[in-house]
Amino acid sequence: MIMGNQAIALGALKAGVNLVAGYPGTPSSEIIEFISKYKSKTGTYVEWSVNEKAAAEVAAGASYAGSRTLITMKQVGLNVASDPVMCLSYVGVKGGMVIVCADDPGPISSQTEQDTRNFAQYSKLPCFDPSTPLEAYEMIQEAFEFSEKYNTPVLLRPTTRVDHAYESMDFPELSPCRKPGEFEKDSKRWVIFPRASYLNHKRIFERNEKTLPAEFSKSKWNSVRVSEGNSVVSDSERRESLPLGCTSSQPTPSNGGHPRNAPVAFAAGGISYCYLMEALSILGIKDIPVLKIGNPYPFPKPLAEEFLKSHKQIVVFEELDPVIEENLIKIAGYTRVNCQIRGKLDGTVPEAGELSVEIISEIIKNLLNDKGNAVSRSETAGTGATNSSQTENSTPVPLPVRPPVLCAGCPHRGSFYAVKQAMKGKKTVYCGDIGCYTLGNAMPLDMTDTCLCMGADITMAQGFYHNEPDRHCFSFIGDSTFFASGITGVVNAVYNQAKQTICILDNSTTAMTGHQPHPGTGMTMMGEIVEKISIEKILEGIGVSPIIQVNPFDQKAAVEAVQKASEAPGVSAIIFKAPCIAIAQKVGWEKPHALTVNADKCIGCRKCINELGCPALSVSTKTNAKGKQLVEIDKSLCTGCSLCSQVCPVKAIE
Ligand code: SF4
Ligand code: SF4
Repeated sequence: MIMGNQAIALGALKAGVNLVAGYPGTPSSEIIEFISKYKSKTGTYVEWSVNEKAAAEVAAGASYAGSRTLITMKQVGLNVASDPVMCLSYVGVKGGMVIVCADDPGPISSQTEQDTRNFAQYSKLPCFDPSTPLEAYEMIQEAFEFSEKYNTPVLLRPTTRVDHAYESMDFPELSPCRKPGEFEKDSKRWVIFPRASYLNHKRIFERNEKTLPAEFSKSKWNSVRVSEGNSVVSDSERRESLPLGCTSSQPTPSNGGHPRNAPVAFAAGGISYCYLMEALSILGIKDIPVLKIGNPYPFPKPLAEEFLKSHKQIVVFEELDPVIEENLIKIAGYTRVNCQIRGKLDGTVPEAGELSVEIISEIIKNLLNDKGNAVSRSETAGTGATNSSQTENSTPVPLPVRPPVLCAGCPHRGSFYAVKQAMKGKKTVYCGDIGCYTLGNAMPLDMTDTCLCMGADITMAQGFYHNEPDRHCFSFIGDSTFFASGITGVVNAVYNQAKQTICILDNSTTAMTGHQPHPGTGMTMMGEIVEKISIEKILEGIGVSPIIQVNPFDQKAAVEAVQKASEAPGVSAIIFKAPCIAIAQKVGWEKPHALTVNADKCIGCRKCINELGCPALSVSTKTNAKGKQLVEIDKSLCTGCSLCSQVCPVKAIE
């Protein structure tokens, strides 16, 4: 069984990718990590770049020389990379370049529910949208070919449930990567002059509006398929059993195309297509034509036009933005086809969050029950309509809501608590950032007043200062985020005479995305041990003063450090240095013994729980002599960090 991200990695290796660069971000992070495991076998160069913009530019250099390159990121990372990516769209590439940008419907672990299919249209880059891991494996190989055929970067945009799904596939034979290309100087081609951009714009318009819609209409990724009632057919089986890429000239029920003049049909792309087919199967609905869109940009217009002409009503299932829906509406208007298109825009499909088999089943059942709608009983004739036992069995049991919390023993808890203690009663603002430490917003710490995007903590604190100079402005940023996009903000703060305290929560890793290395860790993705880049020296070089390094588990020293830094006239910094507990033993930390609550001393005040919110602490069923419920510590979670024992007013935690 292969995970979606591993399938993408294997597809890229199979395509002979020479250089891979990216910045970690859920749900995309495993792609580079998996490629890295095979780099010595294939000779592929792999790096975690400091951010997505750097990754895109590194890849551009190699691609200009004719090497195949892969860039990985999540959807918000594409915002960071958008400057070079937009320009690369115009300038083009020589060696195939695939940008894997993983979208996060929900969102599950992101700031926004951005849709990269819309970015594809905005940036004019062709886009591949896989529905399954196996499709992603095949698509990325085709995307490299396609990139070289049209000299353009290509976007592959899986979503979380494709990235993290598992599918059975044969592990491919991996051979050495392609011979790296050699750069040939040609400033007319590689220098982005306005005149060249004008000409490129015309060329790209022609390609995207005429050539590719026709080409994609014949592609197997865009096709009309038919629901098969109760039999659950895997996507790979379905692809084998149905002639794919049914084009406008061929669709008939016998060849897997759409029945002409069927009153209703569906359209879907990405994971929503799988949900839809499963829902139709569970509901026992047969012979409904489904337009599957695997290339949402440029949209396969001829295929869509023929599909529209054959149906009176089409219901579109897709996550994030109504991209397929709007394209169908546009084509219907342009070609004056009388077909009602339903989806997010008319409220048939939820406008935000993930879809699921259950959500789609409910929508279809509602359509069945609504006489004004065209999914009639006739489409389900002979199938027993809805298969109630299947739908009842598939109703999920509601799970308890578990908000994310900092781990037991997380050093960030000590850092936040020290700042909170030191600044009690003062007028403050706490600007947070993206990483595990965003969880500092949770009660009882409540130490994140703002969180916008990577690196914005440092710059936003400056805005608060210039607006209210009497406010103590704090920013919290992790070590990896500091390298990714924090340094610019520090330069801005010092240059523009801000007064603020920058708290760098240095846990020696990129924790939230899975502990990737960064310039401060002293190792690269190629496995080389390199000189660590010192955050302290960077701050010193920019002119930050004072810069205080402190262990966040030493609360007395940490509180003193915060007080001293907050009194500085300009830009000060505190580096809270302690490893993420998840990698602490790897970096030589010896785990102290787990602590226990001395039942004879505990007065049941719950200060430890109410102020720290450590998940290892809970209220016990035992009581003390005064009948007060005691606190207990879960030994399997406690790391012996001692923060709670420093907080306990009667030293009951030992
Ligand atoms: S993974 Fe590490 S940094 Fe993240 S919450 Fe847990 S201990 Fe803290
Ligand atoms: S802070 Fe100390 S005394 Fe109070 S509940 Fe916790 S362990 Fe008991």
